[in-house]
Amino acid sequence: MTAALELSAVSKVYPPPSTVTALADINLVIGAGETVAITGASGAGKSTLLSILGTLERPTNGTVRIAGTDTSALSDPGLSDVRATSLGFVFQQFFLLEHLSVLDNVATGLLYRGMPAAARRTHAAEALAQVGLTGRIRHRAGQLSGGERQRVAIARAVVGRPAVLLADEPTGNLDSVTGAGITELLAGLAGDATTVVLITHNADVAAAMRRQVHLRDGRIVADSRPRPASGEDS
Ligand code: ADP
Ligand code: MG
Repeated sequence: MTAALELSAVSKVYPPPSTVTALADINLVIGAGETVAITGASGAGKSTLLSILGTLERPTNGTVRIAGTDTSALSDPGLSDVRATSLGFVFQQFFLLEHLSVLDNVATGLLYRGMPAAARRTHAAEALAQVGLTGRIRHRAGQLSGGERQRVAIARAVVGRPAVLLADEPTGNLDSVTGAGITELLAGLAGDATTVVLITHNADVAAAMRRQVHLRDGRIVADSRPRPASGEDS
């Protein structure tokens, strides 16, 4: 079966004056439906890895395949297309449009799909139901609590049914109880059609994912065995 994500011999060296080797010789295969936590100290390369997995940055060396497609062969518009159709992003800061309704914030996740506005709103309402926010769709984003705002951001990330959901410290701005709810939601979104990769400093968040990959100084120093789903041959 084609991997959801595949990094081969990936490195990232930021250009002078910094010349920081943020990633070195990363080999990582993530299967469809996996939930993966990327852990490591500050500066270990976690965000750089997520940016490369998400095609927001190109590696200095090595190849990145998304659902089998070698992204190094794609032009920048081609990469934008991959992002719009195959990837969803969630960040520590929620990046919502505060004055817009919750529904419209989520509908913006479909702007690049060439879908009529009414259809965008229908899909947005479905995504908001998935994250438990049906009762809030007419509120302005600015009226919500932090946990609710992150749920809106997650709905916006999944509204286009991306194959891969990438999250960088999604609980970093939340208290532990609210963060646990968000972690559970993210883990629950994974399935045959959706792979979840998140970055975290938090051991409880990492433990809620089926697989943990630990970075140190830009290298993978530990990778828990990807546990096959029950009923699957290992
Ligand atoms: P983490 O997310 O694990 O804290 P990052 O991936 O953000 O780590 O950073 C890894 C290393 O790369 C750090 O040393 C950081 O200072 C450096 N770095 C990150 N982004 C840039 C950049 N745009 N230019 C130069 N160096 C960078
Ligand atoms: Mg980071």
